[in-house]
Amino acid sequence: MSEIFTLQQLAQLQRNFVKRKIQINLEQTKYKVIDEVVQILDWKTTPSEFECHIFWKDTYVTDEEYRRLLPYQRINHFPGSYMLGKKNELCRNLNKMRKQYPQDYDFYPKTWHLPYQSEELRNKQGTGIFIIKPEANCQGRGIFLTKKLDPFLDKHYVVQEYISNPYLIDGLKFDLRIYVMLKSITPLKIFMYQEGLARFSTKKYVKPQKKNLSSVTMHLTNYAINKRSKDFVFNNDTNKDDVGHKRSLSSVFKYLKEQGHDVDQLISQIKSVIVKTIQSVQPDLAHLYRSQQHNVDGIEQCFELFGFDILLDSNLKPWLLEVNHTPSFSTDTPLDKIIKKNLILDTLILLDIRNKPKKNYLDQKRAPTFQRPPKMSQDEKEKQINQFTIFENKHLNGYVRVYPDENLQYYEQFMPPKQKEKEQTIIIQQQLEFTKQPDKILKLQTESKPPLAKIPKRLSTNKSFTELDGQTIQQLTLRTVAPQTRTPSQQRPFSSIAVVNRPMSAVRKPLYGNQHQNLNQSSNQQKLIYPPPIEQPPKPVFKMLQIKTFSFQKIENTQKNE
Ligand code: ADP
Repeated sequence: MSEIFTLQQLAQLQRNFVKRKIQINLEQTKYKVIDEVVQILDWKTTPSEFECHIFWKDTYVTDEEYRRLLPYQRINHFPGSYMLGKKNELCRNLNKMRKQYPQDYDFYPKTWHLPYQSEELRNKQGTGIFIIKPEANCQGRGIFLTKKLDPFLDKHYVVQEYISNPYLIDGLKFDLRIYVMLKSITPLKIFMYQEGLARFSTKKYVKPQKKNLSSVTMHLTNYAINKRSKDFVFNNDTNKDDVGHKRSLSSVFKYLKEQGHDVDQLISQIKSVIVKTIQSVQPDLAHLYRSQQHNVDGIEQCFELFGFDILLDSNLKPWLLEVNHTPSFSTDTPLDKIIKKNLILDTLILLDIRNKPKKNYLDQKRAPTFQRPPKMSQDEKEKQINQFTIFENKHLNGYVRVYPDENLQYYEQFMPPKQKEKEQTIIIQQQLEFTKQPDKILKLQTESKPPLAKIPKRLSTNKSFTELDGQTIQQLTLRTVAPQTRTPSQQRPFSSIAVVNRPMSAVRKPLYGNQHQNLNQSSNQQKLIYPPPIEQPPKPVFKMLQIKTFSFQKIENTQKNE
């Protein structure tokens, strides 16, 4: 991306797209700009869950919604994308990678997840300023700066070293919103949009000192916070995208170039941050995607538009602050409108949605006898991947491909070894099968191998778990088993599942949130461990209430992790 698009160039781009009668379901989005783009493409909106070729949803996709997709349908989220979008999950995934590749994963400020890493963080007290963030909030809500850590060590927070030397323009701190499209998770395909936003704080920046720590409009660059300040200047003129407190990304790059900085190098550093961040969750997302994939004709059913928030320090080093998996497509100003409209238009064009897969599916359904769709051969698959690539290269518009690109070899080292990945898939599939037909699998396995110990005939629900105490899962099943308390989308990444070689009685205990236990320890030696378990949504509590007659009534459980 040596040539940066200006906003005007982007708006006047001659877009090359094929007009097809595609139907889109916009029932679960509030953003008008999506509908406007659909009009430009001459597509049709439909409330139908069956007719539509594509769903656009503002929130993440649930397991159930993903399972219900028909083979020809697409949706704008990947199952499990919260692994990037939630602060605590991102922290867990990037810390894991940083442990293995400290030099390559140093683009994320040092981050701790409390209370699980309280001991590590305690030693850092007095070494500088920290920014404390609630685990699951957004738009700067609940964020504060502090020197003292003690009062927060036993609470649920994400704590980060504060980058106290940001690059300033007009004396103001700013961060960059870069839009990234994950088009396919396996094979991995990532595109970065060349235009985005720069969000400025409204109060002149001063190095953090005791008396200014609470000034949110100085230290936080969130639009939601700063737009409420009397000093906020809205940009109402698209011909001037370098004024006000929300500007275009290209105007900031232009400014940096004029200041004599090497913007090309900065952009390639940003690309590398994007790719490595997605690589940190690639195996997990790929497993979730493949384990429930509906089609055999190679259609990429999920895609995702992420918002990467990047802060530049005074040396122009890009720091990743967070990844938004549900970025806002509100269009408060003309500048927002032009950028987001182009972004969504180019995203929908790049998807190359066609009618044929839907037609094929309906033909199969209507056929008097069911015919299983033929599986694609390896040759056909490769041919199809080539065709996708040719189409993508012709229809990039405002996008640039960031993975795979010329740095492929460098990125390869962060990918799991192919063989290992294959083995993991086989075991995960076995695990899923086992949850469906435990008896059959157990029989097959006991037939093929001599039993190591006395094996119960079946995992009867009548049998109390204490009777099975002391036997390992492997003795019971002759293989590893996924914890049965989680739905597939909530399963831990495979690497974590491997620890379940434990007595059955231990595995059957609930492993939610705070209750997570080191299974080797007795209950009175329980310890918080890191990485923490993936959170379960709070369970509804059912209470018997006496109304006129006895009945069950659902009451909300507001306590987290219960
Ligand atoms: P939210 O999801 O609530 O927006 P962020 O992690 O993006 O949370 O933080 C909000 C703002 O705080 C950022 O836009 C940035 O201006 C500032 N900020 C966050 N983390 C840091 C950090 N480590 N160093 C300096 N500033 C930060």
